[in-house]
Amino acid sequence: MVKCSVCGIRDAVVFQQHSGKALCRQCFIEDVTARTIAEIKRWKMFGPKNRLLLGLSGGKDSYVLLDILARIHPVSRILAVSIIEGIPRYNREEDIRRLKVVAREYGVDVIVTSIREYTGHSLAELVMRAWRKGKRISPCTYCGISRRRILNFYARMYGADKTVTAHNLDDEVQTAVVNLLRGDRIGLLRLHPAASPASKLIVPRVKPLRKIYEWESATYAYMKKFPLQETECMFIRYAPTLRARVRDMLYVIESRRPGTLLRILELLDEVLEEEARNLSPEALSRCKKCGEPTSPSRHLCKLCEILELADVQRPVYSVYYSENSDPA
Ligand SMILES: [Zn+2]
Ligand SMILES: [Zn+2]
Repeated sequence: MVKCSVCGIRDAVVFQQHSGKALCRQCFIEDVTARTIAEIKRWKMFGPKNRLLLGLSGGKDSYVLLDILARIHPVSRILAVSIIEGIPRYNREEDIRRLKVVAREYGVDVIVTSIREYTGHSLAELVMRAWRKGKRISPCTYCGISRRRILNFYARMYGADKTVTAHNLDDEVQTAVVNLLRGDRIGLLRLHPAASPASKLIVPRVKPLRKIYEWESATYAYMKKFPLQETECMFIRYAPTLRARVRDMLYVIESRRPGTLLRILELLDEVLEEEARNLSPEALSRCKKCGEPTSPSRHLCKLCEILELADVQRPVYSVYYSENSDPA
C-alpha cells in the first residue's frame, strides 16, 4: 500500500491528480476543508457575525458545504433552504427528509419550499405549459431562474447577509467558459467572487466550494457516507447544449492535463479582480409585474418573462416589496 503523502503514516486511498499527492481519508478531508477555508478568507466571503442562508439540494455538494460550514461557522447563524422542483419520478421529498435529519444533527434548520409554492406551478407543469404553446425553453432555465429567485427571496425574508450555494469548481469553470463563448463580459465579471450584486435587492451570493473539483466533492460525500440523492433528473437530456458540450470538452482536457480547471479559474480570478471590484450596481429598473430588479432595457424580470411563456401571469409572491420601497 502507498502511504499518504501528507502524514506518511496512514495508507493513501485517494490520488489527487492535480497536486500529484496520494492522500489518506483524514488528510483528504482536511485538504478539501483547508482549501475551502482559504477561499472563504481570500475573498472575505463572510465573517463569524454574518447570517448565512444555504441553498441545499440534497446532492453531494450540498452535504459537503453543510459539513464544512457547520464546523467553521456558528450554527446559530446558519439557516438552509431546500427547494422541491416538482419533477416526476425525481425523488426529492424523500431526499429532503434525509437532508433535514442530517442538518438537524449539525444544529441547522432547513426550510422546505417548492417552485409550485412560489410560482403557483411545479417545474414539470411550467415546462408542459410552455411546450404546449410551442415555446421550447429548457427545463434547466426554468429551474435555475426559479431557484435563484426563491433563495434570494428567503434570504431577504430572514435577514441573511449572504446566500451560500454549493457550486463546485467544475460548475464555475463551465459557467465562465459559456460566458466567454457567448462574449458575455458582464456575466463573466459578475461571476467573480469580488463582484457585488447588480442590485441592493439581491443578497450577495458566495460559493465556498468554487475551487473544489466535483470528483473531490463526490469522494468527500462518499467517505462521510451522506444519504445522497441518487435519482437522476428526467430533464437532464434537455440541458442547454452549449453548457453540456463545454462540460464534456473540459472533462477531456482535464483528464489529459490535470489541474486545468483550477488554472483557468485561478487565472480569471487574478486578471478580472480589479475590474470586478469596480463593477458598480447597475441602475436597474423594477419588473412591472413583481417588482424584482431587472435590467434597464426590460419591463419584466427573467422569471416573469419565462412565466409568461408558460401562460402564468405572475409569481405568487409578487408584491413582497411595495412600489415605495428603495429601488436600489
Ligand atoms: Zn494522511
Ligand atoms: Zn418579475
